[in-house]
Amino acid sequence: MSLPRALLLDMDGVLYRGSSPIEGAAEFLHAISDCPFRFITNNPIATPEQVVSKMKAMGLGDFAAETVITSAQATARYLASEKADFRFYAIGASGLSKALSQVGHQDDQAADYVVVGEGEGLDYQTLSKAIALIQQGAVLISTNPDITVDGFVDGKPVVLPGGGALVAPMEKACGVKAITIGKPEPLLYEMALADLAVEAGDCVMVGDRPDTDILGAQSLGLQTALVRTGRFAPDAEWPVDQVAPTWDVSDLSQLLAAWT
Ligand SMILES: [Mg+2]
Repeated sequence: MSLPRALLLDMDGVLYRGSSPIEGAAEFLHAISDCPFRFITNNPIATPEQVVSKMKAMGLGDFAAETVITSAQATARYLASEKADFRFYAIGASGLSKALSQVGHQDDQAADYVVVGEGEGLDYQTLSKAIALIQQGAVLISTNPDITVDGFVDGKPVVLPGGGALVAPMEKACGVKAITIGKPEPLLYEMALADLAVEAGDCVMVGDRPDTDILGAQSLGLQTALVRTGRFAPDAEWPVDQVAPTWDVSDLSQLLAAWT
């Protein structure tokens, strides 16, 4: 075995949990440094610059912001391809508005798109505004489908609402289904593959979630590696209705051992 031609790496649950690096992640990243790769994350909250500086602070390495594609950036690129100079109303943490503002314009009176991300921002007022805009014809967009995400409050692990949960009130109130951008939808993977100029079959997706990371990669024809350091526990049974990943390993050091 040798290293894959190219790699897509999920971050949370693969490289770190909260602000702690996962054991073996730094060594893994060092070992694959000659391999073309992108970090792809459904988390729209942090900007790529914030993500790489967090990784540096954790001792995971010094990476260019261009190596990170978040669901907020994928959303921005998607909307720009749908409509040049689009107008948007965003609900969620600031990483989302920052990404959207690079290609579109904030406009809470006549938005083309209501875009829902993760983090703070959803309340009675913003929800009412979003409903009014959707009734005027704005298209509802969700950065990522995760119902819940793992987070930390005061250093303690907690379950937080994900993009899929935050967009649900608008879907319910307006009787519409949001267009969803993050994994397992194809867009984030397709952008990363295009950036790397590689074919899906030459690339391995490494992730911790069967239902997002692995499922989306499988449907595009990527090879897949599941690491059981995140959402999916070491003793969890692989879902019977899903094809097994190419590699199913306890952690990144075991994956590296399988490749070298
Ligand atoms: Mg993950």
